Amino acid sequence: MKAVRVTAPSTLEIADVPMPEPGDQVLIKPITVGVCGTDVKVFTGAIAVDYPRILGHEVIGEVVAAPSESDFQAGDRVLIDPASSCGHCDLCTRGRPHLCRNAGLLGREIDGVFADYVLAPTSAVLAVPDTISVQASGLLQVLGTCVHALSAVTLVPGQVVAVIGLGVAGQLMVQLLQDQGVTVAGITRSEWKRDLAARNGAAMVTAPEDATSALADLTSGRGPDLVIEAVGYEKTLAQSIELVGIGGEVIVFGTLTGGTEGLPYYQLYYKELTLYNPRAALIGDYAAGIELAAAGRLALETVVTHELTLDEAARAFDLVHDPSSLKVLMHI
Ligand SMILES: [Zn+2]
Ligand SMILES: [Zn+2]
Repeated sequence: MKAVRVTAPSTLEIADVPMPEPGDQVLIKPITVGVCGTDVKVFTGAIAVDYPRILGHEVIGEVVAAPSESDFQAGDRVLIDPASSCGHCDLCTRGRPHLCRNAGLLGREIDGVFADYVLAPTSAVLAVPDTISVQASGLLQVLGTCVHALSAVTLVPGQVVAVIGLGVAGQLMVQLLQDQGVTVAGITRSEWKRDLAARNGAAMVTAPEDATSALADLTSGRGPDLVIEAVGYEKTLAQSIELVGIGGEVIVFGTLTGGTEGLPYYQLYYKELTLYNPRAALIGDYAAGIELAAAGRLALETVVTHELTLDEAARAFDLVHDPSSLKVLMHI
């Protein structure tokens, strides 16, 4: 079977590799896969992996074969929870398998989904109803991680929530938040991303340099109750802390990998802030996302900007950080 794998930092090959043996797992044929920053980091070597490694962790596929005692049968359309867990460490037994001490991720510790076939344990497979379009289904994995992040906080209708960064995750956050009845403000430099967020329910959108005054207007000077940092830079985390109201909450959704100097630590203290730094998602988070999408409550398709084939994987990686792109999908 065909597979896109990385053989050394920044070295991609489309290889012919043996088909995986199902055993007691579900054999799935990927239909649509998503490309995200994590894949690019594995590709460039910023995240170290054992080579060669088949890339990819965001996938919608079709069941080819499933264990007879499972709920799945050939032809079912499914989502795979890409994070594996051991089931017996302290975090797993405390109901936090997404933080498992022996965790693995498809496309990182385990061969991934940019391939003709992939295996997944039955417990990591979720049915995806036909009412969710092909394009929308390509967003379900990211959606699950956004649902998980928001599960850290209690949202009350009428609250004001600011989202800094309107990339894929930021756009999905805006949609989820407006569905919850809160007032959403979207912040990004990109005008077209602001326009999209406004069309999908943001009550106010603004450029970063105007955010302080725009949010003051929106909240009578109190500042938002919650700020979601969805970029992953120290500068935007600092801005989140500065923008949020006293007693507020900040969800650090962007993955910060840099240093820690320069944060406004005094404000962390003065505002008695709570910071959340969610990672991955629980299977129930994915299920909740699927339910929302199936009910037609989200506009996931609007976040897809590029649809390519697996042979165009190198271009897909380039596009991930292109200003013209939001979700980049590859169809197999
Ligand atoms: Zn991803
Ligand atoms: Zn574990």
